[in-house]
Amino acid sequence: MIRTHHLTKHYGKLHAVDDLDLDVREGDVYGFLGANGSGKTTTVRMLLGLVLATGGEIELLGQPMPRAARDVLPQVGALVEGPAAYPHLSGRANLALLDAAGRGTRRRGRRQRVADVLEQVGLDPGDCRGVRTYSLGMRQRLGLAAALLRRPRLLVLDEPTNGLDPQGIHEIRELLLDLNATGTTVFLSSHLLAEVEQVCTRGGILDRGRLVVQDRLDALRGPTGRTVVHTPDVSRAVNLLTGRVAAVEGKRIVVDEPDSVELNHQLVSAGVRVREIAAERRDLEQVVLEASGVSGERHTRDSRDPRPHPEPDEELVRS
Ligand code: ATP
Repeated sequence: MIRTHHLTKHYGKLHAVDDLDLDVREGDVYGFLGANGSGKTTTVRMLLGLVLATGGEIELLGQPMPRAARDVLPQVGALVEGPAAYPHLSGRANLALLDAAGRGTRRRGRRQRVADVLEQVGLDPGDCRGVRTYSLGMRQRLGLAAALLRRPRLLVLDEPTNGLDPQGIHEIRELLLDLNATGTTVFLSSHLLAEVEQVCTRGGILDRGRLVVQDRLDALRGPTGRTVVHTPDVSRAVNLLTGRVAAVEGKRIVVDEPDSVELNHQLVSAGVRVREIAAERRDLEQVVLEASGVSGERHTRDSRDPRPHPEPDEELVRS
C-alpha cells in the first residue's frame, strides 16, 4: 500500500528524512514511531504529495507519487497536523463542503454519509455550533471524519490522538481497529509508544530521519531469553533458583531461563506453587531505545546530521 525507496528530504544541511525504505502492506495497522523532530510529518507530507522529496521514490496503492496523485488520493484518507476547517461553520457543514466523494451520489445519500462519519468519530451530527467553539479533541475528531468521508482504502494519520483525553484515545483506537477489520489499511505516525503498542500490527522506528527498524510488532517485541514467574512462595523459589534469579518484585520473579516449560516443571516438582509463568518479552520502549542507539547497541547517527542526540527521556513518551 505504501512503498518508498531511498526517500530523502533535505532542508539545507538538515537531513529531515534520509534514505527511507518504507513497506506498508495491505491490511496493516502500521505504527510509524519517532521522537519529536525525527521526520515523521515530513515523511507523511511527502507520501501525500504535499512536500516534494529531494530524492527517492514513493508508491502509494501501487502507483507513483506525486505523479499519480489524482488517481490515488481519492482512495486515501489523511489527517496531517491538525485538520483545517472553516471556523464559523459547523462540523457538518464543513464536511458537506469537503465531500467530493459525494459527486455522483444523491444529495440525501451525501447528507447521510456526513452524518454517519460524524457519528463514527463520536461527534453529534445535530451540533450546529461553529467549529471555532470546538475543543482540540473535537477538531481532531472532525479531521478524522473528513478522512473517512471517501471510505478510504488507506488511512494516513499523523498523530491522530493529539489533544484527546484517555476516553477519546480509547474511542479512536477502537475505531481504527474496526476500520482495519473491514479492510482499511492504516498508517499511523506517533511518538506515543502505548498508542502504537496497542493498535499496530507492524511498525517502523524513525531516528533522526532514518528508519532504524521495520518489522511485525510481535517480532520486535521478541522474547528476552528470561521467564517471569508469579508465585506466593517467593523465598522458596529464590532459594531453589540460586544464581538464575535476575529480579524479584513482590510475588514476581524474573529468571534467567528461556524454557518456561522446564522451569515450571522444576518449580512444581520442588513444591513451589506457580500462579502464572510466561516468557518475558521486550517492551516497545526497550526496542525503541536500542534501535535509536540510546543503549549504545545500535548507533545509527550520521555525522552529517546537525541535530543533537536527544536524551533518553526526551526520546519518546508513554501515554
Ligand atoms: P513532531 O513530532 O515534533 O511533529 P516530526 O517527527 O514530525 O516531529 P518533522 O516535523 O518532520 O518531524 O521535522 C523533521 C525535521 O525537519 C525537524 O528538525 C524540523 O525542524 C525540520 N523541518 C521540518 N519542516 C521544515 C521546513 N519547512 N524547513 C526547514 N526545516 C524543517
